[in-house]
Amino acid sequence: MQCPICGAEAEDLSSGDFDGLIVGCKRCGHYAVADGALNDFLRLDFDARVAALNDAKAAADSGAKPVIATAVRV
Ligand SMILES: [Zn+2]
Repeated sequence: MQCPICGAEAEDLSSGDFDGLIVGCKRCGHYAVADGALNDFLRLDFDARVAALNDAKAAADSGAKPVIATAVRV
């Protein structure tokens, strides 16, 4: 699959346990995008997608996978 943030080749790590996309990207790391946020997320420009990932990383507990639950910055 392509990384939905940077477009590089990435691993699709999605599992039945999570309602959305789980991505393993060499550039962006491991992260998840919730199903409900995915369409809006893909419409963001590159800088906004990176910012959304950074927000999710900041909100995640240490060691936990960041989850992009909303494509709108709060
Ligand atoms: Zn990436």
